[in-house]
Amino acid sequence: MALSYRRILVVQTAFVGDVILSLPLVQEAARIAPPGAEIDLLTLPRWQNLLETHPSISTLWLYDKHGQERGVGAFWRLCRGLRRRRYQLALVPHRSLRSALLVWLAGIPRRIGFDRSPGRFLFTEAVPYRQHWHEARRNLSLLEPLGYRHRALVRPQIAFTAADEQAVAGWLSRKGVGKERPLVVLAPGSVWATKRWPGERFADLARKLAQSGFAVALVGGKEDRALCDAIVRRAGGFAFNGAGRLTLRQSACLIARARLLVGNDSAPVHLAWAVGTPVVALFGPTVPEFGFFPPGPEDKIVQRSELACRPCNRHGPARCPLKNHRCMKDIPLEQVWPVVADCLQVPTHPQEGGVVR
Ligand code: SF4
Repeated sequence: MALSYRRILVVQTAFVGDVILSLPLVQEAARIAPPGAEIDLLTLPRWQNLLETHPSISTLWLYDKHGQERGVGAFWRLCRGLRRRRYQLALVPHRSLRSALLVWLAGIPRRIGFDRSPGRFLFTEAVPYRQHWHEARRNLSLLEPLGYRHRALVRPQIAFTAADEQAVAGWLSRKGVGKERPLVVLAPGSVWATKRWPGERFADLARKLAQSGFAVALVGGKEDRALCDAIVRRAGGFAFNGAGRLTLRQSACLIARARLLVGNDSAPVHLAWAVGTPVVALFGPTVPEFGFFPPGPEDKIVQRSELACRPCNRHGPARCPLKNHRCMKDIPLEQVWPVVADCLQVPTHPQEGGVVR
């Protein structure tokens, strides 16, 4: 199939994980659009670094909806700017009334979103939200009204630059980690507190990895920096903290260099899939059936499947409603380490004292 539209807007102003999993939609729209077509993406300024080098995106619209552009005036100016671009088609994976209103007020004649969006009445076509499909495939289904048929899961593309690679190599080298040293990346953060495996378990995992000869790096945003610093301290210095120090593209580049990423149900898991690094993902208040699971052939999931309270929230609540947070606290290191060791093909009993700095 081929699209006839030459100017297409994709709107995704949610969290970075949602943005990463919207990239296959952008890429497929670009692939089936006529030569010279422009596929633009509207997103938050904080994701600019990750997206500004993407080869399928013609123009990146940045909308600071939580900051300087919070008011009605800025929203209206944005609508007028979009209207001037004369888009022919809007694809709206973001399930939000504001995003639906935006493409309607921008005068875009064909607007496709999900039937679960609160703004679905503003779309010309509302596609069924398939609860159990992987999010990347779900987003691709927005192309179905245009004749698109799913073939295989499309991996998001993260286009890091030579400068990003140099920056990461320099950062690792300052930590004494050369190219020959195998690396594992840990991602202990999450916007939602209940989705986090306890920091002390990540620290104990870091020690075990170091005992098995791996360099261990932590990634995350600025908001994860204190948590990651605490993990590094508890791990006795056998891990390096890149949270808030590396950009999103540099973090992706670091993950690409790793043999494995271990993280919660959060954005770094999707970054790892994008760059082809195997994942061990820990699920607590959410479940893989929501569609945000790591889909790589070597990826593994660790969870307490038997807990009747799971899932308790689509995102993971700020606090455990039962006040025990068993879904994460009851995942011991002894459950995670054999899975990690198996992925890395190392013995499950590394020699005590064999830590490599
Ligand atoms: S209610 Fe259950 S699933 Fe939800 S946070 Fe608490 S322990 Fe986790």
